[in-house]
Amino acid sequence: MRWAVETDLVDGALISRVLSSAVDLVLPLSCAGCSRPGPSICPSCRAELAGLALPQLGTVAPSPIPPGWPGCTGTLRYAGVSARLMKSFKDGGRRDLTGPLARLLADSVGRAVTAVPHMGLHQPILLVPIPSSPAAVRLRGDRPMLVLTRRVATILGPAVAVAPALSMAHGTADQAGLDRAGRQTNLRSAMRVRQVERVQGRDCVLVDDVLTSGATLSEGQRALQAAGARRVGMAVCMVTQRRSAALALPL
Ligand SMILES: [Zn+2]
Repeated sequence: MRWAVETDLVDGALISRVLSSAVDLVLPLSCAGCSRPGPSICPSCRAELAGLALPQLGTVAPSPIPPGWPGCTGTLRYAGVSARLMKSFKDGGRRDLTGPLARLLADSVGRAVTAVPHMGLHQPILLVPIPSSPAAVRLRGDRPMLVLTRRVATILGPAVAVAPALSMAHGTADQAGLDRAGRQTNLRSAMRVRQVERVQGRDCVLVDDVLTSGATLSEGQRALQAAGARRVGMAVCMVTQRRSAALALPL
C-alpha cells in the first residue's frame, strides 16, 4: 500500500540512530527479533529494522480514510522483525524493549506535534495512550501502551505529560484478529474519557503501537473531542502495510 504523506524524507540511518542510543542498556538472554543469544535487538535485526523505516515520515492515513482523520505519524513498517519485536513487547513480556520502542515512538510523537499548527504552545501536550481492552489487561497483567507512553514522556521532557484518560468499555474485544468491519463495530462508542476536566481545552496526542485500519485511533479521537479536547494529533510506532490503494489526505 502507498501511504498518503505530506512531509520529510528519512532513511534507515535515523532508525539506527534512534535505536543505538537505547539498546544494550540491559543484557537479556536473547534477541527479541530472532531469539539469538545476546542483546535485546541483535545487530542483524537492527539492520533489518533500518530497512523497515517508512520512506517518508509525514502524516499517513489508512485507506479508506476514516471521517475527520487528522493524520498520523509513524516510524516503521509493521512487518517481519518490527512485528516480532512489538509482539514480544506486548504479549511476550519483553519489557527490555521499552526503551528502543519508546525512542521510535517518541520520534513519531515529535513529528505529530509539529504536524498540527500551534499545538502545545501554552500548556504541556497530553500524551493519551490507547487503552487496552479489559480482556487484554487480564491476559497480560499490565498495560503495555501505558508503559511505553510513560517512557516516551521521559524522553520528550516537560513539553508533554502522560494522561491515561481513556478507558475501554467492558465487553470490547481485542482488535487483533478482527476485519475492518468488525473493528469498527467493536469500537463504536467503546471509549470514554474518565476525567473530562483533565482533557478539556487541552492539546492531546493519541499514541498507539500500530496503525492498521485507523478504527482504534478514530474512536479515541471521537472520545477526546467529545470531552472537549482542543486539538487531537495521532502518533504510532509502526504502520501496517495494506493491499488496498491509499488516498491522499484531504488537506
Ligand atoms: Zn536478532
